[in-house]
Amino acid sequence: MDPVWLLLLLPLAAAGGWYMAMNERNRTTRSRDLPESYFKGLSFLLNEQPDKALRVFLEAVEVDKETVEMHLALGNLFRRLGEVGRATRIHQNLVARSDLDDSLRSMALFELAQDYFKAGLFDRAENLFQELRQVSEYREPACRFLLQIYDQEKEWKNAIWVAEELGRFSEQDYSSTIAHYNCELAEGAISEGNNQIAEGYLESAFKKDMKCIRAVSLSGRIASMRGNHAHAIAIWSGLAHSAPEAIGEVVGHVANSYRQLGDKKSLVKFLESALEKNPDPRIIAKLANLTGQEQGHEAGQTKLLELVRKYPNLESLYQLMSNDHRGLDSSQQGKDISTMAELLSDVVEAGKNYHCRQCGFQSNALHWQCPGCKGWGTIRRQSGVKLAPSP
Ligand SMILES: [Zn+2]
Repeated sequence: MDPVWLLLLLPLAAAGGWYMAMNERNRTTRSRDLPESYFKGLSFLLNEQPDKALRVFLEAVEVDKETVEMHLALGNLFRRLGEVGRATRIHQNLVARSDLDDSLRSMALFELAQDYFKAGLFDRAENLFQELRQVSEYREPACRFLLQIYDQEKEWKNAIWVAEELGRFSEQDYSSTIAHYNCELAEGAISEGNNQIAEGYLESAFKKDMKCIRAVSLSGRIASMRGNHAHAIAIWSGLAHSAPEAIGEVVGHVANSYRQLGDKKSLVKFLESALEKNPDPRIIAKLANLTGQEQGHEAGQTKLLELVRKYPNLESLYQLMSNDHRGLDSSQQGKDISTMAELLSDVVEAGKNYHCRQCGFQSNALHWQCPGCKGWGTIRRQSGVKLAPSP
């Protein structure tokens, strides 16, 4: 027998014990037909004929109201074993009954809503969870499912009000998550060219999480797009102070704002200061490129070498070697450097610098929502594999 069915039978056996105890207590009034149906159903299950077993159980529930809980357990197990269709049939059958009291009907509805959710029928699941949200006993779990649906369907406004509601009556703090939902709305508005609307969403994000790195970054981008580069730089400076690890993500925008103001000197100062707080290879690359643009390739390479010595890391070393080997001839030294650069390229490209502090998911790109655990703002860039500093 498939072990899945053995698993199914264990709780059914317990439910059977419960039923027999109930039957014993009420034997003067109870029909004897149900135990026969029950054992007939078990027999079908043992013979791996789940559809026949299901039919017998569905008929049995018409006979005796007290088996409802047993059927709820059975449906729940079907769903957990991936038999969502069978679970749905059981729960639909229960919900359709007119003689269930409110409590049992809510239980059946909650199970049916989870069947729809698991089957990906989000519209149907949403309708039932919305109904259950009105029942105090199911308010919190129904809202949690609704939040998952709206989050997955990218219905950010709905996600915000559900998260707000959950935040009011559960112990979990949804502030950071709501800030990210507002950032999603802001990004949507920016992509449609509605910067003013985007700023409204960012304001809402800051009300929930004053330190939201994503909202700060978006504010800087909007200031930059409006041509207000002095304001953008003030925002980047604030970010460098509050979250220096985030500067690598926006270093291109920072450089652009300083460039627009024609203030390369302050840009170099900004980057050097940021490097001291967070030796990000992208900041190192930007500084070396700036030197190269102003003083030529050799000066840029010298600057890069100086920075690699001060902040040893594989990404910058790879940049140094790949820049060098382009200019090298076919001498043995040139070939050696070329080989080493290629080997290093494999290591650098395979490196996953982003890490979820909640579930451990690793990636080579920043995701505001972790693809692994679906947590918001849980992924951070880690320092890559470092070389030992020079003595
Ligand atoms: Zn995660």
